[in-house]
Amino acid sequence: MSIYNIPIEKLYGVGAKRARLFEKLGVRSVGELITFYPRTYDDWTEVSEILDASDGETVCVRAKISAPFHSGYTRTSKFIAKTVAYDESGGMELVFFNNRYISSMLKYGETYYFRGKINRDLDGIRMVSPSFSSEAEGAGIAPVYSLTAGLNNNAVVKAVKQALKMLPEKVNDPIPPEILEKYNLCGLKFALDNIHFPKDKASLETARKRLVVEELLALDLGLRGLKAHKRAENKNIIRTDYSDSFAKLLPYRLTGAQKRVIADCVEDMRSPERSLNRLVQGDVGSGKTVVAASLCYTVTNNGMQSAFMVPTEILAEQHYNSLSEIFKDTGVRIALLTGSVKQSEKDRIREELAEGEIDLVIGTHALITDATQFKRLGLVVTDEQHRFGVSQRSKLLSKGESPHLLVMSATPIPRTLGLIIFGDLDISVIDELPPGRQVIDTLLINSSKRDRALGFIRNQVSEGRQAYIVCPLVEEGETDLASAEEYAAELMLNHFSDIPIGILHGKLKPSEKESVMLDFAENRVKILVATTVIEVGVDVPNATIMMIENAERFGLSQLHQLRGRVGRGKYKSYCILVSDSSAQTSYERLKIMCATRDGFKIADADLKLRGPGDFFGSRQHGLPQLKISSLADTKNLELSREIADHISADGLYNDRYRGIKSEINRIFSSIDDSTLN
Ligand code: ADP
Ligand code: MG
Repeated sequence: MSIYNIPIEKLYGVGAKRARLFEKLGVRSVGELITFYPRTYDDWTEVSEILDASDGETVCVRAKISAPFHSGYTRTSKFIAKTVAYDESGGMELVFFNNRYISSMLKYGETYYFRGKINRDLDGIRMVSPSFSSEAEGAGIAPVYSLTAGLNNNAVVKAVKQALKMLPEKVNDPIPPEILEKYNLCGLKFALDNIHFPKDKASLETARKRLVVEELLALDLGLRGLKAHKRAENKNIIRTDYSDSFAKLLPYRLTGAQKRVIADCVEDMRSPERSLNRLVQGDVGSGKTVVAASLCYTVTNNGMQSAFMVPTEILAEQHYNSLSEIFKDTGVRIALLTGSVKQSEKDRIREELAEGEIDLVIGTHALITDATQFKRLGLVVTDEQHRFGVSQRSKLLSKGESPHLLVMSATPIPRTLGLIIFGDLDISVIDELPPGRQVIDTLLINSSKRDRALGFIRNQVSEGRQAYIVCPLVEEGETDLASAEEYAAELMLNHFSDIPIGILHGKLKPSEKESVMLDFAENRVKILVATTVIEVGVDVPNATIMMIENAERFGLSQLHQLRGRVGRGKYKSYCILVSDSSAQTSYERLKIMCATRDGFKIADADLKLRGPGDFFGSRQHGLPQLKISSLADTKNLELSREIADHISADGLYNDRYRGIKSEINRIFSSIDDSTLN
């Protein structure tokens, strides 16, 4: 019987009421309790001297109770007991509230470990309500669990201790012994014992590494399974490649990287046994749109339809205009389908799509409504992939019979991470910018230079250029509307009273946002003051300045995306980062922005500094929730990938991987199936 089938009530001291509290934490079975890993640890192994500890610091000290307790009541009638404790360096006062037994727990003349926050002022050094353990118990590393009201850490500790005792001495380890040995990983029993109650720091690290690798391994193998499944056959075989005739339609030459990516994709579409399922990553401005256009052209000429989905109306219009221009003499029938297209027009387009009279439709979410049907959908393209949930992508795919899929993203993802997250997609990278691109000068200033920066913006505007200003991020409780408007009002009153300014913030309706963006795109608005809602992918080549307030509060990849809004035309462009942060780390981060324009390098640095949350809104990538590992853990990602390669080569169907297979099923059952297809 699996420990995942033993309800937690079976544990001593866990009744129905406590079981409900555990359930709030996602723990229903003994098995789930065992994998309910500590949130963090209290380290009692590093003992400080009392005099060395600074005010506000949480430390562990080893000290002797050097006076009897004396007790009394506070003004609010709380019971209070005080004493003093000394180590070699000096003494501190200990204060406890509402504990009448404290004097029998801490004996005069004996030595204990105390852990708590140091309070240091003119009256001396003090610790209020520290936790403590006797000298005999020693100083270990204690687990700290996530809790919920009514359930304290001690209760979880007790339950976990019992749960661990229920494990047999030889637990079934999903990772076979030869792999443990080859990759120098500890066994499951040791790992579980030590992740909860580490013997010492080294054991904790050993345990953690093993559990992290196991989880990433299951994730990786599971995603590979999905990929193999998709590869089954190609229902929309492309017979003739029209890439060369497409290239002749362009006023410029494709870069080597664009050609290579187009060829990768066409090869997939021509192959009988697999179809195109590819993520194309290319930094902002690398020219992803024409790559997609080329594939649409080939698909059209092979008698099938293409659908090109983008996240915003303005982007849809932009793509529609530029592709209409490219295809104007080709006979490719192209249409725009967005929410704001007139109903009668929508009806007509939908009818023509169903009849096969339109070859290429560009649109927003309007494409995925039930009303939109295709005669023979051969290719689905999604642009700025991170803005779509996996389920929206799959909805569009379901409108054809396993159509080819091209996913485009400007969010650079370090390769290892990409391989795992988009394990169901192949990846191509456009690692070259079209020739003659403007280098964007990036400057880091503090607010004492803001006036000069605003003067510089004024000069650029008077030369006919435009500017973006990203206003300060809101503090908690403040609305983004108020702060954006206040900030813009100040600019209008004191700096730019004679210049048309537009404001873009999160509270605007989509149609209002579109119209502000359009005013900017068509140069009626010269300076766009925005919160971070500036739309991705928008191309306003006349904009040459991006000024970002509170730059230290942004992720580097986000800054890189924002910076990518300028330098898109023939004019020299600038990015001005404003920050008053004195922290060394934020200075170093922002300096990375000034030093490099390589999105991948920036993404790597960002991933190290801030974790993967920035790349994808929390769970929109549709991956299972990870219990212990982090997608930012590049080293272990690489290790688990190596092991996954080993197991795949060996054959996952092999009986010795039964344990891993059930681990994969368990992890993947936590997500809604519909999001994965
Ligand atoms: P992104 O990859 O950010 O989506 P776009 O597809 O919007 O980039 O391309 C940015 C600009 O570069 C567009 O104006 C496009 O016409 C132009 N462009 C694309 N490919 C080339 C090329 N090979 N040579 C010159 N300009 C190009
Ligand atoms: Mg684009």
